[in-house]
Amino acid sequence: MMMVGVMAAALWGIGALMGAPTRARWTMIGLLFVAVIFVQLALPQGHPLRTATGGDARFWALLLGLAALVWIYRRGLLWLRARARPETAETVRVAGSFSDGELSRYARQITLREIGGPGQKALRDAKVLVVGAGGLGSPALQYLGATGVGTIGVIDDDVVEAANLARQVIHTDARIGMPKVFSANEALTAQNPFVTVRPYHRRLTAEVAAELLGDYDLVLDGTDNFETRYLVNQTCVRLGKPLIAAALTQWEGQISVYDPAQGAPCYACVFPQSPDPSLVPSCAEAGVLGPLPGVVGAMMAVEAVKIITGAGETLRGRLLIYDALYGENRVIGAKRRPDCAVCGAGAD
Ligand SMILES: [Zn+2]
Repeated sequence: MMMVGVMAAALWGIGALMGAPTRARWTMIGLLFVAVIFVQLALPQGHPLRTATGGDARFWALLLGLAALVWIYRRGLLWLRARARPETAETVRVAGSFSDGELSRYARQITLREIGGPGQKALRDAKVLVVGAGGLGSPALQYLGATGVGTIGVIDDDVVEAANLARQVIHTDARIGMPKVFSANEALTAQNPFVTVRPYHRRLTAEVAAELLGDYDLVLDGTDNFETRYLVNQTCVRLGKPLIAAALTQWEGQISVYDPAQGAPCYACVFPQSPDPSLVPSCAEAGVLGPLPGVVGAMMAVEAVKIITGAGETLRGRLLIYDALYGENRVIGAKRRPDCAVCGAGAD
């Protein structure tokens, strides 16, 4: 019996040395098996060759039966796996509506089970407005564009300054003096020609807020003034649009998804009133770490992708605080306040 094992191993080894495909090597071992069984059946009991190869055909027949069972089991598993992927057909069908350039661009993302072709199409059909093309707006805009959000609006009344460039990475030295929204437009269309950018070079005011935000599915707020923050929140609540808002101070960032239409609190539920300006110094006064808006702004883009595609769990009703100085994340649950002046019973 040892002899058969040695012969099988030798056949496999020689096959491997010759570079024979696995299938051919299994065929050789199968032939060896047939020969051994033939020896057991044809030669008389006690024949030296028959004794050397086990002496009994039943043992080899059992082994052959087991091998056949394993083969049938594996084929069955493959068949089941092929049947358990009905979304593959859907993915292919939806992906068919993309150009080759788009398909190869988004291939790694379409591969994700949670996104797939339908998710990528939802991203392309989505309209997202980013308020502020500064520290948080820069990475958020870059990743929204790169990831394939079809229509991106950006509103900001500032121009690019040298002091912005350490963290507002969508802008360049050559574009100092250019309105930030036009600088952002240049960067986004250069990075991904498949997205449409709508730049609004103006301040967001109450007069235009409802009309402008009404044209988008989702709003990202990365501004650093409380007046605009409360205006964006109030408008989103009235229109029933989800709002991803983030803020930074020195080494710390916080982000949440405010969405009373889906049972989550609004920004004013969590921050009922703007703090005394003397207690909250601006980035210009207190300073801010250059890469910090990169981390938190990218998180805003991640939340946007999840809201649009329905993947995973968003930060609805949860406030995430990232402490860059100690490398820690904290997540705090946030609830709607029934007496909230913006989304509660007391709202106008
Ligand atoms: Zn509220």
